[in-house]
Amino acid sequence: LDTTLSLYHGRLVNGSVRLQKKLRATAAIQCFEGEIRQVLANLIGNAIDAMPSGGTLCLRSRELTRDDRRWLQIMIADSGSGISEQHLRRIFEPFFTTKGDSGTGLGLWVSQDIMLRHGGKLLVRTSRDPRHHGTAFILSLPYDAVTR
Ligand code: ADP
Ligand code: MG
Repeated sequence: LDTTLSLYHGRLVNGSVRLQKKLRATAAIQCFEGEIRQVLANLIGNAIDAMPSGGTLCLRSRELTRDDRRWLQIMIADSGSGISEQHLRRIFEPFFTTKGDSGTGLGLWVSQDIMLRHGGKLLVRTSRDPRHHGTAFILSLPYDAVTR
């Protein structure tokens, strides 16, 4: 997460994005590192895109037990304007973008695929409430995943 974050250092500083990190997970996980880094890069890039006039990028990680399995959970949250219901239904579709020529619409589609192939999950929570607007992507990876 830290390595991927460093790629965005310039965009965070220039975009006056405040960083809030609470990384609590410590156990090592078996995964295709390059692929998981790509997921993190896609989600962090989207979060920064969503805050063109600054905001807060919140990164959290923790370990938890659910359904008798151990999971690593990473949350990447922004204080951007959120995603409308109409767009929310389509964000994981290939080529769906609201960024015109600067977007490919492939980031979330690829990320979802990578997570599913790791036996993981990628969920989104978003709010357009003016008092607490923003979007959080939550990725969960099982520690006992058989990657392929
Ligand atoms: P791209 O970033 O190239 O547009 P993605 O697949 O990464 O493609 O995202 C698809 C669309 O989902 C984006 O164009 C945007 O409308 C929406 N989206 C993704 N992440 C966020 C976010 N954090 N906040 C608001 N909208 C988002
Ligand atoms: Mg993207």
